[in-house]
Amino acid sequence: MPLANYRGRKVVVLGLARSGAAAAKLFHQAGSVVTANDRKERDACPEASELEALGISVVCGGHPDDLVTPDTALLVKNPGIPYSAAPIRQAETLGVEVVTEVEVAGQLSPAPIVGITGSNGKTTTTTWTGELLTAAGLSPIVAGNIGRPLVDAAQEIGPEGWLVAELSSFQLKGTTDFHPRIACLLNLAETHLDYHGTMEDYVASKAKLFANLSDGDTAIFNADDAVCAEIGQASAGRHWPFSLTKRLAVGVSVEPPFPAEADGESSVTQFAERWIVARDGSGADTRIIAVDKLGIPGRHNCANALAAVAIALAAGAEASTLREPLERFNGVEHRLEYVGTFREARYYNDSKATNPTATIMSVSSLPAPLVLIAGGTRQGLRLSRADPAFPRSP
Ligand code: ADP
Repeated sequence: MPLANYRGRKVVVLGLARSGAAAAKLFHQAGSVVTANDRKERDACPEASELEALGISVVCGGHPDDLVTPDTALLVKNPGIPYSAAPIRQAETLGVEVVTEVEVAGQLSPAPIVGITGSNGKTTTTTWTGELLTAAGLSPIVAGNIGRPLVDAAQEIGPEGWLVAELSSFQLKGTTDFHPRIACLLNLAETHLDYHGTMEDYVASKAKLFANLSDGDTAIFNADDAVCAEIGQASAGRHWPFSLTKRLAVGVSVEPPFPAEADGESSVTQFAERWIVARDGSGADTRIIAVDKLGIPGRHNCANALAAVAIALAAGAEASTLREPLERFNGVEHRLEYVGTFREARYYNDSKATNPTATIMSVSSLPAPLVLIAGGTRQGLRLSRADPAFPRSP
């Protein structure tokens, strides 16, 4: 979908916040006739005035019936808007292409793209990958679900850099030709079923990251997760799995491997004497770093490190440059973030653990006795009281 194809044609942007405003500006500059629409009232759409000043038509306070018309060439939707929303249903009825801003960014970027997805650990791994690529002199820009709109980053980056994109299932569902050079699938757990309806739809959206890979691209996936492994193995391109629990002949693994199941105790004690090792199939082992030297705790963060190492090596980083940023990384705020100690109790902020699997991972990374303060919406998920990570839950 080269942008020039839409010159002089009607493009509807649904949802104004951040990525929507960026997409509206981009198509306007490319000569499209843009209508930007948001269900929110105008006072709640701070982007509206700026877009209007540029000459973009902005409609707030609902979705008018005639928003998507037969002459609409493209609908760019905010990833969070459900496919049941009236304008999207209308676009589908009329055969109008519906994409997210990620699809547009993929066409724009002169730099190769690293796409990182998974149910948990995306922001941590994406941020860490950015640090590794920076240390290796590979000039990354980190964007996407992490905050900065991907189309903005795609316009800024030059051909020598790497666009490192955190991608949610919502974003990936709205892609067709999106083609990263390196695709990474971290893990899959039940989440966002209120949006996707079924686990099949959720998994299929994640798998879209690999749909357009070809020779010369790299598929990085979690070999400890059966569904991730199936998606990765089915992908075109070079396969470069990672594993906490298996020694891999090709890929990045922990050696000696961790036991298959976390034992519920603090995994801190399991970290000594273990190394992250990369093997490219040539027979050489590259020892990257001792696991207990990683900057952030927990088995799950070790898995995130394996993925970031695999990505960095696939992007061409020298292995010797990785150690320092792996050790120095402090994590990202709200993710098992140490807040302070009060009356001998250590407090952690893990408010970004937004599904049961994420919470279980964090709880198993911290020593007992532990008090968990939790809350949130159900997202259509099953919650079990029997989980061994919460033996004393009421
Ligand atoms: P995301 O961007 O996918 O939401 P984050 O990196 O923001 O992931 O981490 C959110 C929470 O998910 C963390 O606080 C932690 O509880 C949990 N988590 C992080 N990495 C993993 C992982 N690899 N596997 C399972 N849970 C994880």
